[in-house]
Amino acid sequence: MSTTTTFLGLGAMGSALAKACLDAGRPTVVWNRTPHRAHELGERGATVATTVQDAATAGGVVVSCLFDHRSVHDVLDPVADLLTGRTVINLTTTTPHEARELAGWADERGISYLDGAIMAVPEMIGGPGAAILYSGSATVFDRYRTLLDLWGESHYYGSDAGLASLHDMAMLTGMYTMFAGFMHGAAMIAAEGGSIRSFAERAAPFLAAMTEGLADLATTIEARDYDGEGQQSLKFTETALAALLRASVDAGVNVEVLKPVHDIVRRQIAAGYGKQGTARIFEELRSPQARR
Ligand code: NDP
Repeated sequence: MSTTTTFLGLGAMGSALAKACLDAGRPTVVWNRTPHRAHELGERGATVATTVQDAATAGGVVVSCLFDHRSVHDVLDPVADLLTGRTVINLTTTTPHEARELAGWADERGISYLDGAIMAVPEMIGGPGAAILYSGSATVFDRYRTLLDLWGESHYYGSDAGLASLHDMAMLTGMYTMFAGFMHGAAMIAAEGGSIRSFAERAAPFLAAMTEGLADLATTIEARDYDGEGQQSLKFTETALAALLRASVDAGVNVEVLKPVHDIVRRQIAAGYGKQGTARIFEELRSPQARR
């Protein structure tokens, strides 16, 4: 018999995680602040806890998937004593600093803590392409691996509880800025009355192909060598970005997304780095306190 899994938080994501657990035939307890969200899972066979105290004493491993860092404390603080000696896997999105704070909070109370960052939307949970990044207790990761693997590919980043969130937030930064760039392109197409759908169909494989270059960029940045062979120079990139800006302005498109990229490139050229690779903009973005 598998260990009971108790879910705290049955929003879109918490419900998807609990459903995957039920589909695997595992004993599942669910609790949500607003009770009606537990009904469907109850009908599928979950035990519905009416209070968070009942949920916390149901035994097994506790999985929290709440709104944010604050709501994790709102839910866990009142039942902290009941969780001593137990395991909490927190899949709520938090910053690295917040994840480390929660790990410290758990440690002080004798609670084993694993932090998770979900790289999927609820519909993807349990299916291809879903991944969850973990950091914190390696013992918890190893012990509950079968459970974790029900939701998606499980990747462990290390004992520092902030690392899963760090990688999540770094990837989401890339995703949101890329989507903003897509919206800019869509606005250009719309200005000429074109089909945004057909634009999207062409853009998706093009952008996917472009991401093949990320590994080379990583090599360049890690070496901090912007003079190496085959790099697209800042000067070349500036000319391309200037053309994109002119086309956007001609079309009456707002350039708030694109212009800051051009500004950084121009500053780098003004500082004398025009012949160096465009990856050099990393030097302007990186934190002065960067550890590497
Ligand atoms: P929802 O908004 O659907 O659900 C939020 C959940 O948090 C609800 O169960 C809500 O309870 C609960 N909650 C909020 N505040 C409190 C509080 N103060 N006390 C008790 N419970 C509270 O969000 P999701 O399920 O979509 O997301 C949950 C987490 O998963 C978030 O951290 C999100 O970033 C992360 N995530 C979500 C993804 C997605 O695509 N949805 C993708 C990747 C990560 P109630 O029903 O009572 O309001």
